[in-house]
Amino acid sequence: MPAETRLFLCRSDNYGVLLRDPDSGATAAIDAPEVAPIEAALKATGWKLTDILVTHHHADHTDGIQALKDKYKCRVVAPAAEASKIPAVDETVREGDRVHVGSLEAQVIETPGHTAGHISYFLPADKLAFVGDTLFSIGCGRVIEGNPEMMWNSLLKLRALPDDTRMFCGHEYTMANIAFAKTIEPGNATLAAREQEAKRLVAENKPTIPTFMGEEKAANPFLRADVPALAQSLGLAGKPAWQVFAEIRERKNRF
Ligand SMILES: [Zn+2]
Repeated sequence: MPAETRLFLCRSDNYGVLLRDPDSGATAAIDAPEVAPIEAALKATGWKLTDILVTHHHADHTDGIQALKDKYKCRVVAPAAEASKIPAVDETVREGDRVHVGSLEAQVIETPGHTAGHISYFLPADKLAFVGDTLFSIGCGRVIEGNPEMMWNSLLKLRALPDDTRMFCGHEYTMANIAFAKTIEPGNATLAAREQEAKRLVAENKPTIPTFMGEEKAANPFLRADVPALAQSLGLAGKPAWQVFAEIRERKNRF
């Protein structure tokens, strides 16, 4: 049976997600930004927490881990390169490893840049991806511990996922990201359509994620640094894509 998900806000603009295998009842939290909303989601669904899959070590993704571990005795899976910075880790994973939540299988994709050991989880059978703070809807994470070339290569790995993959990211930043993206590609029709859709969702008090990979490829400027017309419009024709990416990221930092 297909995986079930439940998305909910945590803290100010973080997203928590529960991922459930209907066959076994196994349920994973993707990151643990805050205990109370995660427990509220568990209560509302009646799901039983068995696992926490961590994307990276930042406190707004890990603050809830210890308390949930103490209460539910759940397994904590975390990126090997950041395990020492994450509480209560049971298992560490690297590129290409498989993580099971009941009968669901997720592939580990190393996506460093935002942090040096950031990972994403991709479920091929369900075409679901949990990408933490690497890719946002119409945006990407700040390059904090890595460098732009590293981040660009991580985004290329995510861009290679099927177009109909549903992307779950760690924050609700979509409207601000769209405002910036319009300064990079003002004539992008997919972006304009996405803005209308996101406005409607926000007006209805609904999340703007998950988003589809195909739509991100068409409208997210951070995934489009190798589009020649985009590079040219930034005065960077012929430059390596990661340099174009670095320029877009710099402009966003100043926006
Ligand atoms: Zn982060």
